[in-house]
Amino acid sequence: MKNKNIAIDGPAGAGKSTIAKSIAKKLQIIYVDTGAMYRAMGLYFIRENINTERPEEIEKACDSVNVTIDYKDGEQQVILNGENVTKLLRTEEVGKMASTVGTLQEVRTKMVELQQSLAKIRTVIMDGRDIGTVVLTDAGLKIYLTASSKERARRRWSELTKKGIPCNIDEIEQDIIARDNQDMNRDISPLCQAEDAILVDSSNMSIEEVIDKIIALYYDKLERG
Ligand code: C5P
Repeated sequence: MKNKNIAIDGPAGAGKSTIAKSIAKKLQIIYVDTGAMYRAMGLYFIRENINTERPEEIEKACDSVNVTIDYKDGEQQVILNGENVTKLLRTEEVGKMASTVGTLQEVRTKMVELQQSLAKIRTVIMDGRDIGTVVLTDAGLKIYLTASSKERARRRWSELTKKGIPCNIDEIEQDIIARDNQDMNRDISPLCQAEDAILVDSSNMSIEEVIDKIIALYYDKLERG
């Protein structure tokens, strides 16, 4: 039987989680947001004031931190040492720390093991940075979803403005470029397109268009082909 897992990788703000969540509902499979797991690790590092330059502190933190995943009404919940931290993960500060802890081998080993075990028991659509290249190398469909940094900044600006949060679009774009650099240039599992991934550039596409395109690819590759 063909492996029906879907891997979606791409830079911050490309729309991966919105799109993956919707596809999971349509195909009735489980959505796994791996960024949220790195964010939970980042939150732990912030709370415990861990110095990411000191290997002994990192090792100690990795030994005492436990991130697990649960599902409530079909939505992923991230549990950090027994506490549901799902609602605390979406801040800029936590995102930046997630990107920093994501450069550490100890953290990645822990996260990859957990992600692979989740995909063993269910069919999943998983998004992140290293899903097609490291976590689910045998995924039946791999997508590399991207968009220009300008367009990603515009989307984020519009989201924040709608919520009444004051922000500057140029600063947002600079933050996006900095995070791309960190994610693409780290030594371990850098963000890159897997050889067998299909590139989808969403710069000039609506969310619905991207979803329809990926679902069409899924049926083409995994149901008919
Ligand atoms: O996707 P999201 O913005 O929530 O991810 C936060 C950070 O976690 C990313 O910038 C990246 O550095 C890290 N990450 C990763 N590998 C993944 C998912 C996220 O390194 N599979």
